[in-house]
Amino acid sequence: MSNARNEPESPLRCPPGVQEDCLIVLDAGISELGTGLVVRRALPRRQRRTIGAWCFLDHFGPLAYAQPSEGMQVGAHPHIGLQTVTWLTEGEVLHRDSLGTVATIRAGGLNVMTAGRGIAHTEETPGPNGGNLHGLQLWLALPSSHAEIAPAFEHVESVPRWTDAGVTADVFVGRGLESTSSATVHSPLLGADVAVTDGRHRLPLQPGFEHGIVVMEGAVRVDGTTIRPGQLAYLGPGRSDLVLESDGPARFGLVGGEPFDEEIILWWNFVGRSVDEIRAAREDWLAGTRFGAVDGYAGAPLDTPELLLSSRRR
Ligand code: MN
Repeated sequence: MSNARNEPESPLRCPPGVQEDCLIVLDAGISELGTGLVVRRALPRRQRRTIGAWCFLDHFGPLAYAQPSEGMQVGAHPHIGLQTVTWLTEGEVLHRDSLGTVATIRAGGLNVMTAGRGIAHTEETPGPNGGNLHGLQLWLALPSSHAEIAPAFEHVESVPRWTDAGVTADVFVGRGLESTSSATVHSPLLGADVAVTDGRHRLPLQPGFEHGIVVMEGAVRVDGTTIRPGQLAYLGPGRSDLVLESDGPARFGLVGGEPFDEEIILWWNFVGRSVDEIRAAREDWLAGTRFGAVDGYAGAPLDTPELLLSSRRR
């Protein structure tokens, strides 16, 4: 995935004067990726940049298409300082990167790409394909201790599942719901795909984590507030459980983590600590150095935006 926005946004936790374990519901932004794939962007929002180390959260689909060209086509672009996490509930995405990886992800599998000091990749709907696409793509900010590690790509074929009456949760990254994913991450966090039947449900949470809910299908109620697709619900830390109600089947992404207290700059597809670091990555990409080449993708690289950040920012 790729981020076309380049405005830095200000951080905010629960607003001053609000209890720590607040619930805040924000509308996702609508963005278009590559050729025609519309995504709901739940993070970053002006009001909220991170949930734990999660700094970017796209929900795409469900959609059906007749031609491969109507699916995902994201040309070559670079990343630094983050991990991308791709989780599909329907369809297929073919990933290629500058390490030479060529990997197709399908529902139930997980791709984690660690950018570290620099990687480039492409993403496309392969042909032939099942004609559907639905999933999440998320970015994790690497902590400064790991921001410049070597790039890597990891495909996880199966992830742990937690079940309770009327609840099925696939813990695709991190730890929570009495499960631990084998995927490599670098800070305390959770990413899960949760399906519920109608009724009232309780999921255990880690009180030291803040959490976010992105509904993919149906709707759920938390603290009496209904959350639907196209919204992000932020849950402040201090909760030992999540009690939710649904009037029918529903499915949502549950992300969480220890509040990420490092100040980061998210610009285009880079996570950095200084404008100089971002500028150097942009210049290296344009010069064809550092990131390497992605082989085998038919389309053009993504356009690189102008750098409009003020150098007064750290
Ligand atoms: Mn990307």
